[in-house]
Amino acid sequence: MRPLGEFEIIREFFEGHEAGRDDIAIGVGDDGAVLCPPAGKDLVQVVDALVAGIHFPIGLSPRAVGHRALAVNLSDMAAMGAKGAWATLALSLPDSDEHWLADFAAGFFELARRHDVALVGGDTVRGPLEIVVQVTGFVDHGKALRRSGGSPGDAVFVSGTLGDAAAGLRRLHRTGEANPLAQRFLYPQPRCELGQQLIGWASAVIDVSDGLAADLARLLQASNCGGRFCLHDLPLSEALTNVCDTDESRYLALHGGDDYELLFAIPADRVTEFERIAPNLPTPVAKIGTLEEGDAVSWFDDGTPVTVAMTGYDHFDRAGD
Ligand code: ADP
Ligand code: MG
Repeated sequence: MRPLGEFEIIREFFEGHEAGRDDIAIGVGDDGAVLCPPAGKDLVQVVDALVAGIHFPIGLSPRAVGHRALAVNLSDMAAMGAKGAWATLALSLPDSDEHWLADFAAGFFELARRHDVALVGGDTVRGPLEIVVQVTGFVDHGKALRRSGGSPGDAVFVSGTLGDAAAGLRRLHRTGEANPLAQRFLYPQPRCELGQQLIGWASAVIDVSDGLAADLARLLQASNCGGRFCLHDLPLSEALTNVCDTDESRYLALHGGDDYELLFAIPADRVTEFERIAPNLPTPVAKIGTLEEGDAVSWFDDGTPVTVAMTGYDHFDRAGD
């Protein structure tokens, strides 16, 4: 069978996925997309590049790659409190493998449909496997959440559980078999609804992609704060603590990465009220500490001070070479 050409790939796999949206005047097929932003909203734009062998293991299920390519962008959207609307997809492919493309598209569009995100354009080229997805979304004018709004006294919360994806990836490497923890790595669920509901509550938000320690350091730096945090309060799943001891579970929660949870600050005078409504949020949240004046970061384990390196994954960090 003749391999598909560029235009056949686009027509077969990437055209006609507009998720029923009525704000697209021109989608895939012309030189550019023409989009109709709603009045009174600010546009929020995010982009993420995924390189095979760096951001995901070579040979990872194409369905999981398609899901991840969109999920990491929607997680950034969630951290801004925004709702994703339109995506573009630049694909560099070593060959036009139809099975790979079909599974990739299935993973991408399953998530896109769930979040009402339309694919409105892209580019398809031959080269090493790499995927760049850009998403544009909306937030009420002036309401976008940011990393920099935290103040001393704010309580710090994190959603869901941490460390599962990293533990799952390790086990996937070791056994080659999918396992419940690996699902957290393969199919991260961006916390879009939670992010939108944090508008009006959170003073600062970041999504946890490089590990809690590293992303917490970014939120603290942006907010000009230090803080005190408790290892004991890190939310760990039973699935994780069943296969890892406490130290390893906490290590993965702090430094593992790929969690795609939201880390956020709630002003001191609203914490009680927030904790009252928290059970109704779409994702459980756990309080892990408090922002403080200055830039010192202290960690405690049941009241005992402990040392935690505030680092995580860094693409340009050569220390491990
Ligand atoms: P041009 O050469 O003018 O840049 P292309 O031939 O690359 O246009 O693309 C034709 C149309 O197909 C454009 O609307 C483009 O946005 C869309 N497109 C190309 N690749 C993809 C893709 N991977 N996903 C979605 N749309 C794509
Ligand atoms: Mg053109």
